[in-house]
Amino acid sequence: MAKPSFLLLILLFFINKSDSSTHQICIIGSGIAGSSLAHFLRKYSPQSTTTSHQSILIFERNDVIGGRMRTVSIGGDAFEAGASIIHPKNHYALEFTKSLNLSVRAPSSGANSLAIWDGTRFLFQTFSPKSDSPILDKMYDLFNSLLLLRRYGFSLIRMERFVERMLKCFLKFYEGFEERPVFGTVEEMLKWAGLYEYTARTLEEELVDAGLSPLLISELVTVITRVNYGQSVSISGLAGAVSLAGSGGGLWSVEGGNCQIPARLIQSSDVTLNLQEEITSISRLGNSYQLNSTKGNSYSCDIAVIATPLDEVNITFSPPISIPERKLQHTHATFVRGLLDPGYFGLNSVADIPELIATVEIPDLPFTCISILKKYSDDDMTYKIFSRAPLQDALLDRLFRLNDYVLYIASIYSSRKETIRINWGAYPHFKAPEVFAPFLLDGFHLYYVNAFENAASAIETGAVAAENVARLILSRYPGLNSRDSSILTSFAHVGDLLHLDL
Ligand SMILES: Cc1cc2nc3c(=O)[nH]c(=O)nc-3n(C[C@H](O)[C@H](O)[C@H](O)COP(=O)(O)OP(=O)(O)OC[C@H]3O[C@@H](n4cnc5c(N)ncnc54)[C@H](O)[C@@H]3O)c2cc1C
Repeated sequence: MAKPSFLLLILLFFINKSDSSTHQICIIGSGIAGSSLAHFLRKYSPQSTTTSHQSILIFERNDVIGGRMRTVSIGGDAFEAGASIIHPKNHYALEFTKSLNLSVRAPSSGANSLAIWDGTRFLFQTFSPKSDSPILDKMYDLFNSLLLLRRYGFSLIRMERFVERMLKCFLKFYEGFEERPVFGTVEEMLKWAGLYEYTARTLEEELVDAGLSPLLISELVTVITRVNYGQSVSISGLAGAVSLAGSGGGLWSVEGGNCQIPARLIQSSDVTLNLQEEITSISRLGNSYQLNSTKGNSYSCDIAVIATPLDEVNITFSPPISIPERKLQHTHATFVRGLLDPGYFGLNSVADIPELIATVEIPDLPFTCISILKKYSDDDMTYKIFSRAPLQDALLDRLFRLNDYVLYIASIYSSRKETIRINWGAYPHFKAPEVFAPFLLDGFHLYYVNAFENAASAIETGAVAAENVARLILSRYPGLNSRDSSILTSFAHVGDLLHLDL
């Protein structure tokens, strides 16, 4: 019989591990998935009992918490660079915001002007008031609704009903523990809520069946999926419905930045946070996992959780894991302080430029959308531009060209004062029928929260997935007692996963 290597024994002894009654849970990623997982683990299990204690360690490769919830600073103001809006029915986001004493930033009046650009002309345009009067806001809202109705007809109502049907199913994820099982796979979770079918077909197929007109699908719906997911109506139906929900009324955000949610969740969950520490390998050694980091550190963990999409990270797994091959959709977010040239859009004056210019699915359009974030004065504004490819300086100079002949001759032809570029590995490249990675990657204690992200990517879906994974962990790990046994009801639904562990 082969003797265990002496070096390996020494290694096992010295790698960072606390006493044996402490169960170390290691989470990779400090975004909403990782931070809300820590929160739910603490919420659903005692911090310590006489026999056991769980310590939670979060690794984050960046120097800030939040992942795709992050702000950029331009002209001294902070703007959302990633996840910017939250739906009024996102119960966890709302609950976190309230319980963490954060303030909700009220949604804008809704009267912001939208224009649909096809590269040569505006196909459709709404109007916005040029005053701060709430009465005028309401009148413009009504007028814009009539404009939408005139162009797209009653198909708009069918679109709203489609979103409502999806939302009704999604709300099942907030049901009590008695009704809601612990789910072992994404498929089970979606099937239970009545959402799985939406992931098997494209949004376009779903909407045609729901009776939407081709014009509404190719214009307004396309605009929304491009703005929210950088993709066309060929994304899967559920992601599409979530995207459409993100264009409705009552949307909100957190005063001072949405990234405060993960930051405060981590702060309040008794977590050890290792910032700027990237995990490079995860190896199963007997009953635990050894995590190695770029800092040359090794950590021994009883439970390891991946809370980031695995598609673009460099983590080596031993033994290897197998998940469906996927890719991320990249969105290039470019922030510019300057002044858009109305001439680029065939307009005469800056005042005529709509607050949101969104585009339809036409090849070679260089940007997906341009929105005004802040107006400092009539000739000084901050804009956010989304595009599928990086925006070159030459194009930005054309978009922000100064309409002044003297300055043009003097070669000071761009109004750009500040430009910030972010290349996001933004969300999954959704493709129906969706194939999901498992929540449990190895049949032991290696979990993957972002397996759920291929259903839909949002702050709330991250929290919903984390809540289920927290219950799954507590139901499967013998040493972790739950505060309330009903939390772990319906073990049967975890099915075969439990047997692997016993
Ligand atoms: C431009 C953009 C706009 C969006 N708009 C919205 C919106 O308006 N509303 C909405 O609800 N959602 C929106 N989303 C989606 C939303 O941001 C994401 O679904 C959500 O934030 C994902 O959170 P997460 O925790 O799963 O992943 P992430 O936020 O990506 O967190 C993962 C973290 O893990 C870290 N990490 C990765 N690998 C390692 C490693 N090896 N070691 C250590 N750390 C590692 C990363 O640095 C990252 O911080 C948007 C996304 C983008 C990009």
